[in-house]
Amino acid sequence: MKRREFLKISGLLGAGTAGAGLLGGCSTLFPGPDAYPAPGSGKLSQTPTFCDMCFWKCAGFVHQENGKPWKITGNDTDLHSEGRLCTRGTGGLGSFEDRDRLRRPLLRVTGSDGRQRFKEVSWDEALDFVAGKLKKIAADYGPDRTALLNHGYGARHFSHLMRAYGCGSSAEPAFAQCRGPRDIGFVLTYGEDLGSPERTDMENSRCIVLIGSHIGENLHNGQVQTLSAGLAKGASLITVDPRFSVPASKSKYWLPIKPGTDIALLLAWMHVLINEGLYDKEYVDRHTTGFGQLSAHVQRYSPEWVFLETGLEPELIRASAREMAKCAPATLVHPGRHTAWWGDDTQRSRAIAILNALLGSWGRKGGLYIQEGVALPKYPLPDYPEPKSDWQVAHAGRYPFADQGVTTALVEASIGSQAHYKGWLVYGTNLPTTLPGIAPQLRAAIDSLELVVVVDTMPAEITGYADVVLPECTYLERYDDLRNSAERHGSLALRMPAFEPLYETKPGWWIAKQLGERLGLQKYFPWKDYSEVLDWQLKQVGSSLEEMQKLGVKNFPRRGPKYFVEGQPVQFATPSGKIELYSQQLAERGFDPMPVYHRPERPPAGYYHLNYGRMPSHTFGKTTNNPLLFQLAPENTLWVNPLVAAEHALLNGTYVRLRNPEGTLSDPIRLRVTERVGPDSVFMAHGFGHRSRRLRLTYGLGADDSALMSNVKTDPLMGGSGMRTSFVTFVKEEA
Ligand code: SF4
Repeated sequence: MKRREFLKISGLLGAGTAGAGLLGGCSTLFPGPDAYPAPGSGKLSQTPTFCDMCFWKCAGFVHQENGKPWKITGNDTDLHSEGRLCTRGTGGLGSFEDRDRLRRPLLRVTGSDGRQRFKEVSWDEALDFVAGKLKKIAADYGPDRTALLNHGYGARHFSHLMRAYGCGSSAEPAFAQCRGPRDIGFVLTYGEDLGSPERTDMENSRCIVLIGSHIGENLHNGQVQTLSAGLAKGASLITVDPRFSVPASKSKYWLPIKPGTDIALLLAWMHVLINEGLYDKEYVDRHTTGFGQLSAHVQRYSPEWVFLETGLEPELIRASAREMAKCAPATLVHPGRHTAWWGDDTQRSRAIAILNALLGSWGRKGGLYIQEGVALPKYPLPDYPEPKSDWQVAHAGRYPFADQGVTTALVEASIGSQAHYKGWLVYGTNLPTTLPGIAPQLRAAIDSLELVVVVDTMPAEITGYADVVLPECTYLERYDDLRNSAERHGSLALRMPAFEPLYETKPGWWIAKQLGERLGLQKYFPWKDYSEVLDWQLKQVGSSLEEMQKLGVKNFPRRGPKYFVEGQPVQFATPSGKIELYSQQLAERGFDPMPVYHRPERPPAGYYHLNYGRMPSHTFGKTTNNPLLFQLAPENTLWVNPLVAAEHALLNGTYVRLRNPEGTLSDPIRLRVTERVGPDSVFMAHGFGHRSRRLRLTYGLGADDSALMSNVKTDPLMGGSGMRTSFVTFVKEEA
């Protein structure tokens, strides 16, 4: 770092303060065996929450004895969890009790020796500093020249703050580095995205197709449960994955595809459905436009031709296509979630969307149902000022179909003295391990900015680059906005404090309000406590905070049908009002109006595709330091095919480093030699290889796949990062 040295926060939070945790002067970083005893004769109580260990937001209860933590369970009335939390959700208490949590506001100062360090300061000092810098940026350049980079539900408070201040630029990795390509692909086809949780009706499906989705290894609670329910009722499963994943092991058909050739397979499936007359002709006639062009387009993608690209036997392609058709319309070709893979991902998602249309599954039982949320009024506040600029400045005319900011573009637009952005507010996202292949640009941006504020609960790597670190309390210690996800029917869920905030941490809503008041935005923050906002909103829909503090979840009856009603016209929110198999919008912008397969780049000799995914016990780097979950999975492993292991003389259980063609070397990672991964790829779970020493449990364990990502291909339609385009080879560790 030229200007901002990477600071480790270590001088402040050493052994002297570690003992101040909830469990008293115990030196261990783990909760002991009696940390969560079964209740004795004390007073039991429970507090509603919805989980923040991942984005699924399962509702549950935090149970206490005499106010002390006991356990977290699911709320039986909740659609997201159906009363059951996943491994990570039940480990939520670990985030509360993590000894490495941020504890006090920190301010970067330069000592008389010229060295930078963090100094613990009061909240007033930290907030005054941030507000002063924001005002200076606004005076010198305009309030729109600060960007919000965020992730997670609590970011809403800071989005409100920034919009009230006249800032229109925000971006979250959840878009360009995750589900953005999928959502844009579906919007281009159906005029709507999939929502979160997705509108997949798996419990009623007769056939489920997973393409690169390892549900069961990624524990999206509701999806695991509805997939299991569908399978229990006899649904057949078709899994497309170069790896023999958990769902592959449950499948009727496993298609071990060559990496990067999914679009070819999807087009071959369409070829079979159309040429064998297996598609839903009536549905296609009634609801779609462009079938003639699609039919002509897919003729070149015969299973025999596609075999040469994908490595999948033509008869396997045909048999799996016929299985889908046999079960249609109760066939779901799952849209996936993390879909930023190869840089042509919007087109791959379009292909999935089109395949679902041929099967007639959108709006049909067992396919993709019609979601419903609650019409929850907004708390009455003045309109936001019109910002002078927004995130589109950073896109500079690129990514015409992006409907929100692209994180990497905002980073690029922050580099240099003439850069558009002068300040960042970073909420809940660890940019150094989240953004692939742009470490130099990230550092350059951080060096250029006049202000970097980080709001977080943990000393993740990004905190080391901050001017000010504002420690938020965990989700178990705060109110947040009501959960109002569109689902099978409308429901609201409440997150409220189960415990007083530990140390000197504060809820996000409080931090945002304090900053707002210092920026003269009092009229946007008229509440004393955020519970007032929630109570007001709940009263508009016939409930109250008092009721929700008991129930946790309130369900509402459906107002409309869950599936298309026979004979009733359907209007799609596309330019044509139909499902667009052929996209005029894309054609007019010079893009392929229908998905086209392009052969992916293959690794040089001795290198392998770097493939990554999830493991059940962690939500990436967010949970790897959680002391409860750490004990389940302290490090990731590298899956290597036995043929590859033999070629490189690699032994199962030993450690290797990985190197990409640019020479970046990973931390050591333990080998798992297994036939469950093919000989052209290696696989690891994402979220390990932390470099922040203050994450004392997870520091130095496992390897970080994102640090090895190079050759990242950007989706020209919406700016998504193709993150499966990297290659690695092995560097053997000395014993
Ligand atoms: Fe929490 Fe698991 Fe639900 Fe995610 S899926 S919100 S981690 S319980």
